[in-house]
Amino acid sequence: MDKIKMTTPIVEMDGDEMTRILWQMIKDHLLLPFIDLNTEYYDLGLEYRDKTNDQVTVDSANATKKYKVAVKCATITPNADRVKEYSLKEMWKSPNGTIRAILDGTVFRAPIVVKGIEPCVMNWKKPITIARHAYGDVYKGSEMKIPGTGKVELVYTAEDGSETRELVHSFNGPGIVQGMHNLNDSIESFARSCFNYALDTRQDVWFATKDTISKKYDHTFKDIFQEIFEADYADKFKEAGITYFYTLIDDAVARVMKSEGGYIWACKNYDGDVMSDMISSAFGSLAMMTSVLVSPDGDYEYEAAHGTVQRHYYKHLKGEETSTNSVATIFAWTGALRKRGELDGNAELAAFADKLEKATIDTIEAGEMTKDLALITTIPNPTALNSEEFIKAIAKRL
Ligand code: NAP
Ligand code: MG
Repeated sequence: MDKIKMTTPIVEMDGDEMTRILWQMIKDHLLLPFIDLNTEYYDLGLEYRDKTNDQVTVDSANATKKYKVAVKCATITPNADRVKEYSLKEMWKSPNGTIRAILDGTVFRAPIVVKGIEPCVMNWKKPITIARHAYGDVYKGSEMKIPGTGKVELVYTAEDGSETRELVHSFNGPGIVQGMHNLNDSIESFARSCFNYALDTRQDVWFATKDTISKKYDHTFKDIFQEIFEADYADKFKEAGITYFYTLIDDAVARVMKSEGGYIWACKNYDGDVMSDMISSAFGSLAMMTSVLVSPDGDYEYEAAHGTVQRHYYKHLKGEETSTNSVATIFAWTGALRKRGELDGNAELAAFADKLEKATIDTIEAGEMTKDLALITTIPNPTALNSEEFIKAIAKRL
């Protein structure tokens, strides 16, 4: 069999610990035998990040702007323990944070639906994708404890020195206060990312805020989404047979619970934080989630939603057997390969991505899976495989 050719490289961001081990196994067993893999390789493993003073992370993000498609392995975000463990020069920033700051995007997370790993919500037949705005609101808030009687105001000082004031509250006793903000530019790019992703995946978009109560703050989110939709997306949505639906956040929650799934739920930062954990746990496992960062320029960075699975890595180092679920990392690769195929008009490459995903799902549905899934599956007598056996079982089907 001739290997599938690639015309443009994918940006490959290698990572840390157990996921770095899985990364190599996936390449060896599932990719290299079938594809003339064309990647521009960046080692985001902590040692090399430290060696390059984290320049490699910045370079990998800039390469993503150049080539449009990246696939990223999970990486360690160093804390004090890691600084000691790896004798780091500095407590380097989160690579995901650095990459997001350069690409400026929205993170989309969707469960990978498999028969035998059933959602707790029985009417959910299709995945629900959470699109989380990753800037501002309470995550960039400033807060005060008010000790007693006094007045709190919001003050905007314009460049010419003129002031606009708005009373928050006249306190007669102790209390608390919080100020937060967002930026029209950031909300606009959030909206565009959601609408582009919807066209890409042919799914409806739901968006919700509390604009009836927050008549300026939340209402601005609602208005910006509506303006951008009408100006640039209404026709394309009609053509694609999909819709944009806005409602209040409490109404959205009620509708989500009663829905069949199969749409993108755009969430403000805090709503996305809370709701994505609800959706992922209700669908089964973090290792069964896809995650992709989409920039407003149409750059795509695919990753797994989980971390480097440190506890399994230490077992692996001791020579003990591990049973680490590689599905999310495999789907990061297939996401990137399919997107590369689409952008380059390389149908064979996109078709390969579909086949690899199907082989992965078929393997689990045939009862062969890693331990984390074997513990929760409704399939009778599942076979719990180790990390490498699972990948080899997929290779056999592929
Ligand atoms: P984690 O790696 O997601 O693992 C937490 C636990 O979840 C594991 O110990 C394991 O449970 C289970 N788990 C997660 N992924 C699994 C998989 N693929 N297969 C089987 N079980 C899985 O989170 P963490 O231990 O809190 O973080 C470890 C490192 O990852 C940290 O240094 C953190 O900075 C980094 N991190 C990176 C990213 C990223 O790059 N996207 C995201 C989050 C965290 P059991 O031990 O019970 O089997
Ligand atoms: Mg959270």
